Amino acid sequence: MQFIYLTHFLLLFAVCTAHAQGPIIQSQSYPKGYFRPPLDIPPQASGTFAELRTNHFHSGSDYRTQQRVGHTLYAVADGYISRIRVQLGGGGNALYIDHPNGYTSVYMHMHQFSDNITSVVRAQQYKEQKFDVDVPLESNVIPVKKGEIIGQAGNSGSSQGPHLHFELRDTKSEEPINSQLFGLQFPDNIPPTINGITVYDLGDDAFSEHTGRRHLLVNAGAGGNYTLAQNTIIPVNGRTGFGINTVDQQSGSSFRNGVYSIELLMDGAPIYTAVFERFRFDHSRAMNSHIDYPYYILKKTRVQKSFVDPNNPLTIYQNLVKNGIIAITGNQVHQITYRVRDVQGNTSTLSFRVQHNPTYKPEHKNIPGTAIFKYDKENRYSAEHIEITIPENALYDHLHFSYAQASKPAKGYSLMQHVHNRMIPLHLGYQLAIKPDETLPEHLYSKALIVDIQGNSNGGRYENGWVQTTARSFGSFYVGVDTIAPTIRPQNISEGKNMATLSRMNFLGSDDLSGIQSFNGYLNEQWVLMEYDPKTRVLWHVFEKSMPKGKQYFRLEVVDWKDNKQAYEVNFVR
Ligand SMILES: [Zn+2]
Repeated sequence: MQFIYLTHFLLLFAVCTAHAQGPIIQSQSYPKGYFRPPLDIPPQASGTFAELRTNHFHSGSDYRTQQRVGHTLYAVADGYISRIRVQLGGGGNALYIDHPNGYTSVYMHMHQFSDNITSVVRAQQYKEQKFDVDVPLESNVIPVKKGEIIGQAGNSGSSQGPHLHFELRDTKSEEPINSQLFGLQFPDNIPPTINGITVYDLGDDAFSEHTGRRHLLVNAGAGGNYTLAQNTIIPVNGRTGFGINTVDQQSGSSFRNGVYSIELLMDGAPIYTAVFERFRFDHSRAMNSHIDYPYYILKKTRVQKSFVDPNNPLTIYQNLVKNGIIAITGNQVHQITYRVRDVQGNTSTLSFRVQHNPTYKPEHKNIPGTAIFKYDKENRYSAEHIEITIPENALYDHLHFSYAQASKPAKGYSLMQHVHNRMIPLHLGYQLAIKPDETLPEHLYSKALIVDIQGNSNGGRYENGWVQTTARSFGSFYVGVDTIAPTIRPQNISEGKNMATLSRMNFLGSDDLSGIQSFNGYLNEQWVLMEYDPKTRVLWHVFEKSMPKGKQYFRLEVVDWKDNKQAYEVNFVR
């Protein structure tokens, strides 16, 4: 009987679709067919909207560009260029086009702008004598037509390989919106992958690395139907939450991208829904509250929690019942269901059973801590060598704050300060001041900064016996100094060289600690544009066509954030 049922079941699948499909959740509809694709090659995603990235949700769709730079980029609709931005890291060369229907299209990591746009950028760069510029433009300066060439896709800024980062934003609120909701889709008939789930024995404490976790393996069945590997009734006792490790793949692509929605239901009724339709940039850092952040820090695996920290500001959640936390009593067996969808409605589900069991005793850890910090208050902490001020709403939950100090690190000018630990994320920066010891001489006060245990500068400056900075994370810090100037290494130029056949001069520029604050090149004592790629540390100047022929004198100055200056000069012929 079972066999017959199964055969019938499989047959049904074969004649219908390969897997479940369902309607996607969205708060409003968006115009379809208004925008054309930004590229004219078949769309393939290397990143999708709101997928989980370091300290943020990805705000756009990443289009693959066949592993090369230089693909032509087109304006996706009529409008005007409202902003041109050149950033050292981040989006690199970026364009913003405002469209009359209330949306803005954004193109990042571009290789080149079209000539008319480049001339506007160059003028601004020479005016400000600066490579990185942010140029807002009125509607009459560079109007564009749908399908007009605006430049080439590239790999500029903090891009890790050639691709186009494309966004559609609500012009007024600047909220990025999932561009696939406008019909600009990537081929996809594969349901999301569920890699596993986690049961959180929350107890009465704030969520932290001490929270009890049970990681459960799953089996993938046909058509996106998942089951627990061990299909037993899960005992729960006290406040309990769930989390899911899930990704989405598109047809013909090996990239593991983000899903569109996660729904958690108890006995068929939703208790938690997350929808990645749109979000606010000032909330994006709360990705760290959306995921099990301590687990991510420890294991580099992102489990999306299906319960919401009390001070998580994200507006992506719906249908919350008790913030997604269950606290069942009685004998009844309850069914918990996860329903995960991609933006095209391909659906995966996983159901399992839970039951209150008073004999189940979640592992309870005594939580260490020096002070209790409330998320809705400003919190201050001070000790002999440290002063901390954490603003209101910087924490996502209450915190048993812990502080300790340890011996002075090599090259340090203070004791090591353990400021809680890296496993608790912060939404806002906080004031961190560390008292240097008496080995810091007065002539190095201006070179002092705060260094973390990983050896990275956290910036900062000396004032009234303290070195203070705005830190973005908890961790271990000490006072260091940066007295070493940046390095400049010429790549294709040397004293007296004939550069006639070369279109540009290249240098390698880097700094050991505080980072490069500025770089300036002077050709025959005139400021010229130097471009810089922080990924490769290449610093270059493209010779202008208008450059007079003959002997040339060039000087390059690179300054770090502690005002250590390096200069290089060279005479050449071109
Ligand atoms: Zn991107």
